[in-house]
Amino acid sequence: MKTQVKALVVGGGAVGTSIAYHLAKAGWNDVMLLERDELTSGSTWHAAGLLPLFNMSFATTHIHKYSVDFYKTLEAETGLNAGFAVVGNLRLAQTQDRMDEYMLYASTAETCDVPYVWMTPDEIKAKWPLIETSDLKGALYHNTDGYINPADVTQAMAKGARQRGVDIVRKWQADAFHWNGTHWEVTCTKMVEKGGNLVPSDEQIVITAEHVVTASGNHAQTTAKKLGIKIPAIPVEHQFIVMDQDPALVEYRAAGNPEHPVIRDADAQSYVREERGGWILGVYEKNAPAVFEYGVPDSFRADLFPLDLERIEDQYMAMIHRIPSCEESGLKDDFNGPICYTPDGNPLVGPAPGLHNMWLAEGFSFGITAAGGTGYYLAQMMVDGEAEIDMASLDPKRYGDWMTTEWAARKNEEAYDHVYIVHHPDEERPACRPLRTAPAYDRQAARGAQFGFVNGWERPNYFAPAGFNDHDARSFRRGGWWQYAVEEAKAIREGVGLIDATAFTKHVVKGPGATAFLDWFTTNKLPKVGRINLTYALTSHGTTRTEYTIVRMKDDEYYLVSAGAWTAYDADYLRKAVADKEPEFGRIDVQNVTTQWGVFAIAGPKSRDVLNAVIKDADPATALSNKRFPWLSARQIELGMCPVNAIRVAYTGELGWELHHPIEMQNYLFDLLEKAGGAHGMKLVGARAQNWLRQEKSYRAFGNELGRDATPLEADLPRFVDMSKDFHGKEAMEAKGIRSKCVTLLIDGPDDADPWGREAIYDGETRVGRLTSGGYSVAFSKSIGMGYVRPDMAVVGTRLQVKMLDQLWPATIVEDSPYDPSNTTIRVDG
Ligand SMILES: Cc1cc2nc3c(=O)[nH]c(=O)nc-3n(C[C@H](O)[C@H](O)[C@H](O)COP(=O)(O)OP(=O)(O)OC[C@H]3O[C@@H](n4cnc5c(N)ncnc54)[C@H](O)[C@@H]3O)c2cc1C
Repeated sequence: MKTQVKALVVGGGAVGTSIAYHLAKAGWNDVMLLERDELTSGSTWHAAGLLPLFNMSFATTHIHKYSVDFYKTLEAETGLNAGFAVVGNLRLAQTQDRMDEYMLYASTAETCDVPYVWMTPDEIKAKWPLIETSDLKGALYHNTDGYINPADVTQAMAKGARQRGVDIVRKWQADAFHWNGTHWEVTCTKMVEKGGNLVPSDEQIVITAEHVVTASGNHAQTTAKKLGIKIPAIPVEHQFIVMDQDPALVEYRAAGNPEHPVIRDADAQSYVREERGGWILGVYEKNAPAVFEYGVPDSFRADLFPLDLERIEDQYMAMIHRIPSCEESGLKDDFNGPICYTPDGNPLVGPAPGLHNMWLAEGFSFGITAAGGTGYYLAQMMVDGEAEIDMASLDPKRYGDWMTTEWAARKNEEAYDHVYIVHHPDEERPACRPLRTAPAYDRQAARGAQFGFVNGWERPNYFAPAGFNDHDARSFRRGGWWQYAVEEAKAIREGVGLIDATAFTKHVVKGPGATAFLDWFTTNKLPKVGRINLTYALTSHGTTRTEYTIVRMKDDEYYLVSAGAWTAYDADYLRKAVADKEPEFGRIDVQNVTTQWGVFAIAGPKSRDVLNAVIKDADPATALSNKRFPWLSARQIELGMCPVNAIRVAYTGELGWELHHPIEMQNYLFDLLEKAGGAHGMKLVGARAQNWLRQEKSYRAFGNELGRDATPLEADLPRFVDMSKDFHGKEAMEAKGIRSKCVTLLIDGPDDADPWGREAIYDGETRVGRLTSGGYSVAFSKSIGMGYVRPDMAVVGTRLQVKMLDQLWPATIVEDSPYDPSNTTIRVDG
């Protein structure tokens, strides 16, 4: 057995095996896969093997699509038939809301080149007469996916991996991980059978590896403990039943008809497929419990839990309604196995927090579907430094150190329960909330705040009258909350509004090496003391890793503000870069001060009047004037008795200030501003209105326009890139050229809907790009969006179409910052 390898993959389920295969395929010829038991002995062996292309996330759709295409090639490569039945996938809709959901999804599918077809109830009935269609609105049909044998596809990938030189070692468990400064030393224990259990023996070896990947499935909590990190991957019980033969189905097939597609009756929380003349019914039922919160017991190997028929009764009855001929079919077999989940249902793929060359591939609930693509894109990240798609939405660091086992377990149960709910784009999930609240939370709640979840924080989305029910107001069109966001947006454009931006990520970077480091780390010129700059940290591939507002507090002290949803993700990249560069630049201290500072953003033509009423200064009348407090500068001011680091910027594009204040004084400041604002009609404003307003100014948002799939030049932000200096990722950025370009569009859409930022952009019949943001513009009284189009199209005045609700709507590319392009209102003096 080798004791020195380039990469060690821990876990021989579908996911680990695919990663080992793809690392070898990408050119690493010294890869080992370690499995504590037998290949596929985790969740992989009992999966139903469905390969749904449907996914609302751009990255995950790419991953699933790669898998489906890749699995079709495996037999030719390995000689092993993995039993891929390309029967298609039929998604039924019982309501218009569900049809709207499919139409939004179809837009995402289109942007990823996933084919689909719409079907009416009559077309379904004509093609598959056993299906009851009287209560259906329609269906979405993918003809390119289907189901596969999970164990066989894993064995085929294992064979392909071995053919490419991968060592696959079974019955060894990775037990301890030590980073020696250049390599991982992984202590591994030989596992032996004892009384039917698999237990560690006394035999141990140490394997040295440059890179380690963990794909440990249901063992993620044990892996987390061994690595000293948090991984919110905890399994939930998931059931499917196999039914005896259905005579009507047998007859239908005997007549030469093809196999039914996988039938997904989302409104009945179930999926159905054929199995040897009978049916398999799989369910995403309520109250499925999380399991193995503190690790998998030795006694649980390739085992199952007892069937809980009561839990799936509703779904079973719904299946009899949907396929009446199965009513007499008995129960042949049942599977209730652990299926790993994460709080948002997406897996955790990418660099582990705080550790060098440690990669996670954990928390897969659709692991058979995702295995192929995960292996492909993770191998790109490990071998080339970046994947060709932005993997941030799957990054393991999208949750912070604040999370606990209890939180992850309850959220994972919710994610399971929510698989087949209607996924409104304005959905907010209720479990485990509120948890992270800033002091003003209670005050905001009392004033009607409807909160959204941002990295655990409660942040107002909008404010509504007492008794308003956010849940019932959600929609794919303009939801019941829309009018409140319109009023809030208008308040900022015409008067004054106060936005809670406490969730922002905040770092202090200081010390003798800070200036040289940040100059290298970010694209823009560093600001002078007291000034601020917008700037970007790039990946080694020249794409955008993080957007920062940098305030220079002193010569060698900087305050960095970045997106609230990405605290751990940003902190990790910054700290790792500092650790790498400190020997070159000198001492650099990094402090994450996110939870020490609250932030209120006050904005609107009357914002100066509100602040003037409470500012304490020797000459209060001029303290906020352009002369003493110019745009894009920062000052320490006093508002009443609250010391405030004020920054003159507003993400809404109006005159405004961000008021960074000690978190413990937040309620004092809130009351002070509310009282002073009362005289000027100040409105509390939520994130939804802010998101619309920033699009009128073409302000790019991280995670939407800004990410690891585009450079700042492609985001059309050359003014924040100082080409006269050297910075990390510069050469790669230049080499990328302009593959597509960010633009702002005004859209003449439907009367009752705005885009969400996932829609395809067309020029006639040709797809030329996709939206990354969308919403409503109060300044132009129509829909607005931002997105990427082919560079030759990115010309002001170009007329295109945006696909919404399955129709093309006229859209025009407008100049950057269509509202107040010369920034007159922002710079206004007073
Ligand atoms: C009833 C049911 C039906 C399902 N149906 C589908 C479906 O239709 N489609 C779909 O896409 N998904 C389905 N799934 C989900 C799917 O089974 C999982 O997502 C997938 O198997 C996860 O693969 P994995 O490789 O991540 O984990 P696993 O298959 O659990 O593999 C992890 C492996 O790591 C090994 N291991 C752990 N720790 C160590 C260590 N320290 N050292 C060495 N080895 C270690 C384990 O022994 C295990 O073999 C279903 C799940 C269930 C329960």
